[in-house]
Amino acid sequence: MAIFQPVRGMHDFLPKEAYRFSCLIEQGRTLARHYGFHEIQTPILEKAEVFSRPLGESSDVVGKEMYLLTDRGGEILALRPEGTASVVRAFLSNGLTDTLPFKEFYTGPMFRYERPQKGRYRQFHQIGIENLGESSPWSDAESIFLAQQYLKSIQIEAFLEINTLGDAASRAAYKEALVAYFKEKRTTLSALSLKRLEQNPLRILDSKEPEDQDIIQQAPTLEAFLTSEARTFFETLCTGLKTLGIAYRQNPRLVRGLDYYTHTVFEFVPPSGEGGTLLAGGHYDHLVELMGGPKMSGFGWAAGLERLSLAACPMGAMERSIAVITVNFNSEAYTCARLLRDQGYIVEVFSGKDFGKLLKKADRNQARYAVILGEEEINTATVSIKDLDNRIQERVPLASLKEFSKPL
Ligand code: ATP
Ligand code: MG
Repeated sequence: MAIFQPVRGMHDFLPKEAYRFSCLIEQGRTLARHYGFHEIQTPILEKAEVFSRPLGESSDVVGKEMYLLTDRGGEILALRPEGTASVVRAFLSNGLTDTLPFKEFYTGPMFRYERPQKGRYRQFHQIGIENLGESSPWSDAESIFLAQQYLKSIQIEAFLEINTLGDAASRAAYKEALVAYFKEKRTTLSALSLKRLEQNPLRILDSKEPEDQDIIQQAPTLEAFLTSEARTFFETLCTGLKTLGIAYRQNPRLVRGLDYYTHTVFEFVPPSGEGGTLLAGGHYDHLVELMGGPKMSGFGWAAGLERLSLAACPMGAMERSIAVITVNFNSEAYTCARLLRDQGYIVEVFSGKDFGKLLKKADRNQARYAVILGEEEINTATVSIKDLDNRIQERVPLASLKEFSKPL
């Protein structure tokens, strides 16, 4: 009978990869805590509207990529494609609007029906932060700093690109100019962009269609349409970034894939430009209101763990352990294991007739030492400790494992 394969674009994480992931997550979680962001966990399934309303029907994520399902009660649900909308939903449905700022860290699987390729999957994993209730560009700068410190801590070199999408008034003026420009180019625009011209012209700037690229390059940029408030906001952000010593490049064509951003948007991209954006986010002024809450600003970012894992230097080799090796499972073996685990060591018991094979198994399982319990050792209440890196072996009393203090 044929064996099952996972769903296209979805992967198992075997121990080495899973371990690497948990290192990347733990590093982010710890660092975020230092900046006052605490972990929140939200369900993977939400009502579809939680995403379609704030992200916009014309966004790729909602329009083309969202996994939708109807449950047995007839409710339309979505597998979450991103974290921000879920966090805002949780903030509102738990009645937390009086406890500001609401600073959250999250991690977990996200789902998008995209064409799978390297660094792009249908189930992927993000780590991210959201900061609700803080509207200053200084706070944006600090959250970007946290992102930069995180990438640095996992030895990823990435370059920061920033832009401003302005406030509502800037956007309205810009939209008008953009529509006029794209209408002139109507005959050469891609079919998808023509559709967006009607629904959400700003989205055209995010088009990946080859025939749109030249037109996008020549398009007017938002900068000329910024209100003085929006301009001041952006200038203060830049001052903030400089104060924190963060190098950046302003990319006037940077628009994010999601509709809810205002003012600051940013991306950390690999220096080679290859492999896709590693970490991205921005400021939002209307999202909380749009989801039924009070008017307040927020800022958030998310990084794709698979992309981080591909970009990070070799790191996170599995932790070393101690293997207890014996002929027949016996009480001495488990006594040894307990004594060692009590001192914080990772210990596995292997039993079998062929000690050579058992030692190989220990090696494969990252053991640094093998604690060998042959017949002779058992009869004399001793153990032989073999250093698997240096192949040195010594015999010691079993009870001495209580004070085993070798580094692994
Ligand atoms: P892209 O332009 O690469 O499609 P995006 O704008 O859709 O990215 P966001 O929604 O901002 O991405 O998500 C933040 C991060 O999540 C991205 O920078 C990327 O690292 C990661 N990410 C997004 N989609 C995927 C995916 N399908 N597979 C793996 N990682 C992803
Ligand atoms: Mg995308």
